[in-house]
Amino acid sequence: MRVSARSAHALRVAAAWLAAIVVACGGATGQAPATGQAPAGRGTPAAQTAPPPAFDGARAWAHLERQVEIGPRPSGSDAIAETRAYIREQLAEVGVETTEQAFVAATPLGDVPMANVIGVVPGERPERIALASHYDTKLFEELRFVGANDGGSSTAVLIELGRSLAGRDNAFTIELLFFDGEEARRPEWRDPDNTYGSRHYVAAARKDGSLAGLRALVLLDMVGDRELRARKELASTPWLVDLIWGAAARLGHRAQFSTEYAAAISDDHVPFLQAGVPAVDIIDLETPTDRNSWHTAADDLENVSQKSLQIVGDVVLAALPDIEAHLRSAR
Ligand SMILES: [Zn+2]
Repeated sequence: MRVSARSAHALRVAAAWLAAIVVACGGATGQAPATGQAPAGRGTPAAQTAPPPAFDGARAWAHLERQVEIGPRPSGSDAIAETRAYIREQLAEVGVETTEQAFVAATPLGDVPMANVIGVVPGERPERIALASHYDTKLFEELRFVGANDGGSSTAVLIELGRSLAGRDNAFTIELLFFDGEEARRPEWRDPDNTYGSRHYVAAARKDGSLAGLRALVLLDMVGDRELRARKELASTPWLVDLIWGAAARLGHRAQFSTEYAAAISDDHVPFLQAGVPAVDIIDLETPTDRNSWHTAADDLENVSQKSLQIVGDVVLAALPDIEAHLRSAR
């Protein structure tokens, strides 16, 4: 993914300007229903069902290590096919059925065979909440890029969330989306050379009519930095941001889920937003950028931590009942 603005200066100006708008909108409208509902859904009769199996950060860490061991995992490579098989195998072990959504992406470097992996955890309702990550790593000729954080961390958390959710009573069907081809094939990020998998998913869901049943998307990307500090992403749907950052605050993770806003980021949530699906991107682009571990050889095991994976998994699980309550009351 990449920040939308072209220069650091433009970015800061845009961020300040957009932050003002988002805060204004949130204060005027977005926040009112969310805060009105949250207390009713938490701590009172809603919490009658058994809690889901806790998120196990050690398991998530093992999934991250395995991906790093496989090595660079660019779209179309044998390594990404191996990663795909690993994801499916791990989910099958916990009883989550997966399918592959294969397609051929026309990229500036030629046609590349790609495949999204889609896991489904049944819920009371056929309508879906999607949790997502990209599992490809950026293609580099000149360096060995293993993407411990960028590609590895969110995929690891998503696999482990599958295990927790498979043991939970879900109000909505949960879809686990592992996108191929998030990264640009060319060195620079220039539309439409990016987000191939998520764009393909949305186009296919539109075509077969299943997009209408998708009620929300929670995207994870670069969530493993050892000094994780995810800021609120500007393009994300405000009520989803409020519920997720609210859950983080409840759990005492304000340091990792900062209340500051980051600039809007081009990422896999954008095709969903454009299609009218509420979506949030949980991402920390700033910390790795500042350390120079974003899209460099330093995106390795040294700069990620099990603790960060644990926190993100815990926060998503804690926010899920609130997201369900919000969606239930919305219709
Ligand atoms: Zn990347």
